[in-house]
Amino acid sequence: MWIDTHAHLDAPELDRHPGGVVALRAQAARQGVSRCVIPAVHAANFDAVRLLAHQLGDVYALGIHPLYVPEARDDDLDRLDQALSLHRDDPRLVAVGEIGLDFFVPELCTPDMRERQQRFYRAQLRLARRHDLPVILHVRRSADLLLKHLREVPVKGGIAHAFNGSLQQAQAFIERGFCLGFGGAVTFDAARQLRRLVTELPLEAVVLETDSPDIPPQWLYRTAAERAAGAAQGLNSPAELPRIGGIVAGLRGIPLQSLAEATASNVRKVLALALDP
Ligand SMILES: [Zn+2]
Repeated sequence: MWIDTHAHLDAPELDRHPGGVVALRAQAARQGVSRCVIPAVHAANFDAVRLLAHQLGDVYALGIHPLYVPEARDDDLDRLDQALSLHRDDPRLVAVGEIGLDFFVPELCTPDMRERQQRFYRAQLRLARRHDLPVILHVRRSADLLLKHLREVPVKGGIAHAFNGSLQQAQAFIERGFCLGFGGAVTFDAARQLRRLVTELPLEAVVLETDSPDIPPQWLYRTAAERAAGAAQGLNSPAELPRIGGIVAGLRGIPLQSLAEATASNVRKVLALALDP
């Protein structure tokens, strides 16, 4: 029994697969993936992720992703507020997300954009407080600043997704009620620091994700040279989650079943999942 805490199942790449996202999701279910968390990235896909979560038996989050902040309008924050109110009794709505800060993409690092990203992030933290929801965070070269805003606008916790920071930063998130999400990046032999981190953290703080269709695990990854020679990048979908879990269980030296149970129980706690199993 696995829970994929981060899957962009509304992404067009997944629907281009034969049978579409429905077939991919069924394949994941056969691998033991019982639930996926589908985060929104901008106001234009709020309805799509909600409907998809209902169609697939999954759960969803609503928010404006930092990569979409440049094109977002200020009143998209009002649309988010309204959507959170409208669907407050929907047990499949589990978080505000995906929100956060990205200081890797150059266009997002201009002084204006840094300021605008922080304004959207803070506004969405306030909405998470108002609607009593946890948050799903995008952390990219931004852990310390994300934490600074969390200290000023505390929320009830959540998940720092695709976490790749230091042990000290991880502990600061844990103290604020967060779990850390690990996925494809941890499958690479060369990711020594990340692999050490995933063994050092308390098991209660670890959750798993595929981030599909992004961040392919090592077995699906093709280098730029291989792609130039005609090899296709493998399609990363929630069906990869148990194999990612196998890597993490191996690194921690615990049985696969224990990791599956512990991480699923962590998700149920941190996102207050009311649905069973
Ligand atoms: Zn994402």
